[in-house]
Amino acid sequence: MFYIRNPMTKDPFAPPPDEIGTEFDVIIIGAGPAGMCAAMYCGRGMLRAVVLERGIPGGELLNTEKIEDYPGFLSILGPDLAEKMAEHARQFGADIRMEDVVSVVRRDDGIFEVATTTGAMFTAPAVILTAGGTPTRLGVSGEAEYAGRGVSYCAVCDGAFFKGETIAVIGGGDAAVEEADYLTRYAEKVYIIHRRDEFRASRVVQERAFFNPKIEVLWNHRVLEMVGDVKGLTRLNLEHTVTGAKSDLAVTGAFVFVGFMPNTGLVKQHIVHDPAGYLITNDRMETSIPGLFAAGDLRVQLTRQITTAVGDATTAAIAVEKFLTARKSGATSG
Ligand code: NAP
Repeated sequence: MFYIRNPMTKDPFAPPPDEIGTEFDVIIIGAGPAGMCAAMYCGRGMLRAVVLERGIPGGELLNTEKIEDYPGFLSILGPDLAEKMAEHARQFGADIRMEDVVSVVRRDDGIFEVATTTGAMFTAPAVILTAGGTPTRLGVSGEAEYAGRGVSYCAVCDGAFFKGETIAVIGGGDAAVEEADYLTRYAEKVYIIHRRDEFRASRVVQERAFFNPKIEVLWNHRVLEMVGDVKGLTRLNLEHTVTGAKSDLAVTGAFVFVGFMPNTGLVKQHIVHDPAGYLITNDRMETSIPGLFAAGDLRVQLTRQITTAVGDATTAAIAVEKFLTARKSGATSG
């Protein structure tokens, strides 16, 4: 293996990254798989890049227990893959900083100003948005009240609190069905509550759940209300989506996996997006704002996997290189 260091750090007498300043060739927002892959490629491309991340690097990997669909790894824990990706990006000079971005504004001269909660202002002619998304709330009564007291959006974080208990998972996508299977290692019984009569989850994930004796699927049901007492959640109020029949389900935990809201609100100018808020890009991952690229879960696409996130990020980083070269030669606006 050979290492290329970032031009900012290849000088052994260079100041540490924190003292280098806040002007870059490209700012990458979010250090999930897409952000870390973009950083690796930008480092290899000798771009001055910074990754701004509000938490520790990893994004959704940190909420995923076991990963079995990332080539090269038959099975790897999400946090372990996150660590490997961060280490790999750093080997190529990635400057990953813990900063919570609050706004991204493109000035008339084409330079982006990226402001963070610490009051810092980072600037660059290109930005790659890899900020992923946040779990969608069901929006039913009791959900907010019992959040953290029975209601959860992260099986890996909270599963162990439900040893021997009866719990529910709401949703029918990959996340819901996969996490229901995971939760049976703690819970005695896991109900999957799904509003239709078939899952959206991939076949292999479904099969595993169907063969798990601790899982029971309540097809055609939706949650009307989450009810509890001072200790926390005690039951769900359900409605049959076909007959309208109401019922009660006694559970002490409810894990909600009903989708994902793309984190795109940071950008203050209008960007073209679909009705659900996912960003529309061209085949270079460029959004409708020149110099603003998007990669990973916040982009419109058929599926959102780790593999698609890193694929997007590779394209985005290489497109940024070409964009900056064209900009230098005066071939782009701004
Ligand atoms: P998703 O695929 O969008 O599935 C969301 C599920 O929640 C759907 O079954 C949907 O029902 C249901 N739902 C949505 N709103 C609801 C509501 N208000 N009430 C009740 N149910 C509701 O989301 P996801 O599972 O979070 O996955 C997001 C992306 O990540 C997908 O592309 C997925 O393939 C990917 N992912 C992949 C893996 C993996 O491959 N290992 C793991 C996790 C996620 P309907 O089906 O009726 O619409």
